[in-house]
Amino acid sequence: MRFCNLLRIKKMKKATSQNLELGLKWRKIQKENFTNLDTLGKFLELDLSYSSPFPLNLPRRLASKIKKGTLNDPILKQFLPVDEEENPPLSYLDDPVCDTSFQKTPRLLQKYRGRALLITTSACAMHCRFCFRQNYPYDPNTDFSKELEILRNDPTITEIILSGGDPLSLSDVTLKRVVENLEAIPHLKLLRFHTRFPIGIPERITDSFLEILKTSRLQTIFVIHVNHPRELDDEIFAALKKISSLGIPLLCQSVLLSGVNDDFETLKTLFITLATGGIIPYYLHQLDHVKQGHHFEVSTEKGLKLMEKLRGELPGYAVPKFVQEIPFKNSKTPLPSSVLSMVKQ
Ligand code: SF4
Repeated sequence: MRFCNLLRIKKMKKATSQNLELGLKWRKIQKENFTNLDTLGKFLELDLSYSSPFPLNLPRRLASKIKKGTLNDPILKQFLPVDEEENPPLSYLDDPVCDTSFQKTPRLLQKYRGRALLITTSACAMHCRFCFRQNYPYDPNTDFSKELEILRNDPTITEIILSGGDPLSLSDVTLKRVVENLEAIPHLKLLRFHTRFPIGIPERITDSFLEILKTSRLQTIFVIHVNHPRELDDEIFAALKKISSLGIPLLCQSVLLSGVNDDFETLKTLFITLATGGIIPYYLHQLDHVKQGHHFEVSTEKGLKLMEKLRGELPGYAVPKFVQEIPFKNSKTPLPSSVLSMVKQ
């Protein structure tokens, strides 16, 4: 009996140190991100010079997918600070979707009935230039007791969305604590992750993270963010498959971005690649008018025409909803063909 216990303790210690190693592995990879323009410029054989208050942050494996010497590469464009970010039009704002108007606390937002969003962290695996939350006044604290109390006292909220920043920037120890605290709220039924982390660092899908998902009583929905088919590869799909094998639906949201994916072939390849990899394209977002992101704007008319063509070529499940976040509406606003006829007049 004693021998069995010793064996179990030994096995547990081995598993813990393996998990720790895996945890440290993704942290170590993250530390190798490009955060300096000169270093990235040397790597890509480009002369890069513009620095911005929203600093460069790009995982190496994503950078290695960028074609050398190609300034208008669709992956590079998403992460490279450029001088067009200066002097934005007046209609482009620090808080384009009015996040701060929906704060129950700085770390708990509720925009729509039945669901609330926890801003778990300000950190991300990468910095996307078009991010609508790049100017958000983040609170660095990870004590969520106030937010949990609000959720506990509001039985109308049945779904909690872990967002940020990127919730997978948190350690598995912190995530486990957050998820366990949420599970203890009886009326919460659904747990949604909004993350782009595995696209830059698929090693983040650790055994200990999978264990959190596996043992949770909450039905989890895992939403990734991808904008160009070249961001994807077999290793990323393999990491995500570990999540879907737990019975967790995988969805993807994308943003329509000028010079990145505003053409039929790119979008078609993106959506069919996702569907083939077991990921349902969920939303294609019209750009939120964030101050530094105006150079990514694609007209709604062009977006609607692209959607019309995609519907003619792809199965329904591979065509996402084309939507815009219009502040104070009671859901994301689908951009229907009726808008196209209005635009045409
Ligand atoms: S990963 Fe998401 S939250 Fe982070 S910068 Fe990109 S869009 Fe924003």
